[in-house]
Formats: sequence, C-alpha cells, structure tokens
Amino acid sequence: MVPLPGSITGLQRFGDAGYRFFVLSNQSGVGRGLQTQESVVACNEALKAVFQEHGVMITECLFCPHTEDMHCPCRKPKTGMWEELRARYGLTAEECLMVGDRPADIALGNAIGCPTALIGVTTEECPEQTYRALDLLHLVEQVLS
Ligand SMILES: [Zn+2]
Repeated sequence: MVPLPGSITGLQRFGDAGYRFFVLSNQSGVGRGLQTQESVVACNEALKAVFQEHGVMITECLFCPHTEDMHCPCRKPKTGMWEELRARYGLTAEECLMVGDRPADIALGNAIGCPTALIGVTTEECPEQTYRALDLLHLVEQVLS
C-alpha cells in the first residue's frame, strides 16, 4: 500500500495543528459479494499501519458495506457513518473538515454543515466545496494559512 503523493506530509501537518483523522468509505463490493467485511477491515488496518509509521494516527475507519439499492442509512452521501462518529467522539461538524475525492464525500459534508475539501482531479459533477486542492499537502497549506 503506497500513500498518495503529499498525503503523509499533509496529514502530519494537520495532526500537528490538532486534527484527528477518521476514514469513512463506501465498500459496496461487500454487498455485491466481491469482497468480504474481513478483507475491508484488513485493508483499513494496513492503511492505519502505513500512516502510523510516519506518526499519523488514524483514530478510526468506518465503512458502509451496502449497495445503493439496499437503501441503508450509512452509504455516503447519507450521514449514518458521521452520526456514529459524532456520537462516539463528541464531534462538531463546523469544527471538522470533510475531505474526499468524490461528489458523495462533498455532498455528505454539505449535508451535515461541515467545511469540505475536494482532492485530486475528478471529472464528475460535484457539489460546491469549501476548498479544492490537488493533494493533501496543497490542502493543508490552504486550510492552515
Ligand atoms: Zn450502508
């Protein structure tokens, strides 16, 4: 597993500024039988380990294992995973930053009243976002400037 360019330094700087990190992902491959829950958990653990080696602690990774037609409350842009984190860690949306590379990530942030950041280059139609950056390093420079 190789972190994207700028992601380690970017997250180190966010961490130094007091941010905690949570990963919310849609994993519909589980619902479609292409992947097991266990393999997603193992992948998340590997992700945490790679960043931890560089002093970046990811507090928790949550994922939605459902497909769109299951109409669950957790598949982004639905807010179920956020509600879970908010309850568990006492988070306030205005003090968080929702970072993602897909329209669903930005739509979720907008739905809960959280600042948003679109990372990378997507060709998909995307809702309005607070920040836009090529990678996490360019993002942290904008957010913390
Ligand atoms: Zn779900």
